[in-house]
Amino acid sequence: MTELEERLLRENWLRVQEEVHQACVQARRDPDSVKIVGVTKYVDAHTTLCLARAGCTALGENRPQLLWQKHQHFAEQGATEDVQWHMIGHLQRNKIRRTLQCKPIIHSIDSERLLEAISKESAAQQFVTDVLLEVNISGDSDKTGMTKEQILQLIENHLDTGVRVRGLMAMAGWGTDVESARNHFEQTRELRDQLETRFGIALPELSMGMSGDFPAAIAAGATLVRIGSRLFQGILDRD
Ligand SMILES: *Cc1c(COP(=O)(O)O)cnc(C)c1O
Repeated sequence: MTELEERLLRENWLRVQEEVHQACVQARRDPDSVKIVGVTKYVDAHTTLCLARAGCTALGENRPQLLWQKHQHFAEQGATEDVQWHMIGHLQRNKIRRTLQCKPIIHSIDSERLLEAISKESAAQQFVTDVLLEVNISGDSDKTGMTKEQILQLIENHLDTGVRVRGLMAMAGWGTDVESARNHFEQTRELRDQLETRFGIALPELSMGMSGDFPAAIAAGATLVRIGSRLFQGILDRD
């Protein structure tokens, strides 16, 4: 990274924080109730570390191998303590063990089998992994995540051992218009409320909203917004 790029990155981070803050004010929500997860899948480990040093210490990756690489790079640079990793993409079961060494919050639980496997491995490594259930609220077959019915079933069957289910994750999808994104997020929050009532459990986290739709997600109750491209404007599109 050039010095100019580092400066741009810091400015982008400040601007994104400001916009998230504004969205909270507009939604009459406490700005401290929303955390920005900086999605760093677009950039290398060094740029990711620059972002963390600028103050963005919740970092999201959608591919296990890149998460491992960056986690390793941070360790080599002596920068692990303040960073919380977030796994936001599909996790194959054969990659669980290595992934758990990074102690991530896993947003993308998309099957009961995956949840059980993470639970078992976490228990074996003697810690508890915080997870979110990825919901496909519209039921579109080309979207990732579980249907409402699958989620009900999963919670009914699940025994808390190595994992703690903290909430839901949803994606409106790229190119969705704001109105349908808003609808999508509202439905996700409603499902969360229903699950809490029905099972008498607390599901405080809602991971929803990306660069293009985070204000709508915040208005609907998001507690974790996953923002990538906005952070790297002017950096990715050079060359
Ligand atoms: C890439 C990605 C994001 C970030 O998207 P941007 O539009 O770049 O902000 C958020 N969530 C998931 C699951 C992603 O894969």
